[in-house]
Amino acid sequence: MHKIRLFAICFIAPFLSSAQANMDDAVISTVKIKDHIHMLQWQGAGNMMVLSGKDGNVLVDDQFAPLAKKINEAIQAINPGIVKYLFNTHYHGDHSGGNENFANMGATIIAHQNVRARLSADQRIINFSQPQKAAPEAAWPVITFGDELNVFLNGEDVMIFHVEHAHTDGDALYYLPRSNVLHTGDCFMKGRFPFIDRNSGGSVDGWLAAASRTLTLIDEETIIIPGHGDLANKKDYRDARDAVMSLRDAVKGKIREGLDLDQIKALNLGKSFDATFGSGFIKSDALVTTIYKDEMGEK
Ligand SMILES: [Zn+2]
Repeated sequence: MHKIRLFAICFIAPFLSSAQANMDDAVISTVKIKDHIHMLQWQGAGNMMVLSGKDGNVLVDDQFAPLAKKINEAIQAINPGIVKYLFNTHYHGDHSGGNENFANMGATIIAHQNVRARLSADQRIINFSQPQKAAPEAAWPVITFGDELNVFLNGEDVMIFHVEHAHTDGDALYYLPRSNVLHTGDCFMKGRFPFIDRNSGGSVDGWLAAASRTLTLIDEETIIIPGHGDLANKKDYRDARDAVMSLRDAVKGKIREGLDLDQIKALNLGKSFDATFGSGFIKSDALVTTIYKDEMGEK
């Protein structure tokens, strides 16, 4: 049985034991968005996008190392040939865990500069007890960017833009305006409260700013590949942004009234959002805690 690293599990920690048991039997599902754009999924872990065509296969995110062979087989079924370019939306192991394997198969890895910085050194992810060890050098991006990057492949003008201090400090979103498809990475997860990894440079206000900026870029027809969960649309993203904004404002109001964290948590301010966004591993009280600590400048 393959062993996966605990720290690599961004969102499936509750299912870790079953994930370990199932990794060998994993079936990667392929969701067709357009003839040349597909989403690959496995068990609610980080969603992947495949952009295929005459310029070769382009992959955005790659989940876990033990799944690389199966992910590659799923890609071969779409379009035979190596993954030529591999992009990461951010450094978390459930999105970049296959980097070394795909690099060894010939992929060139490209990501925000902070993805390289974080993959090349040990990391401590908030909410997780174990550190994420530095990845082997082959897993590090060999091309990095700062604010933005444009690539022109397989008939798409891919707009890649960095959003500051959102889910982490190395997030990038991938927008394909011609086909109107967006991969948000973990800056958005369908039907779940966001995980804002403050230890990795994420912040509540940055997450909100990223959402608002992205929402001005897309329209109601945009097909969104979220970091986790099924395909989504602009309304789903807007609803998540509005919920977080509402919760942030409510927590700030209580801080101004002089309440401490325990008193604020006792108010259950996120109750009305739980049915819609509470299915992931971040519950509303965890987000309230994140908001409070972010506001107070606490670790
Ligand atoms: Zn993540």
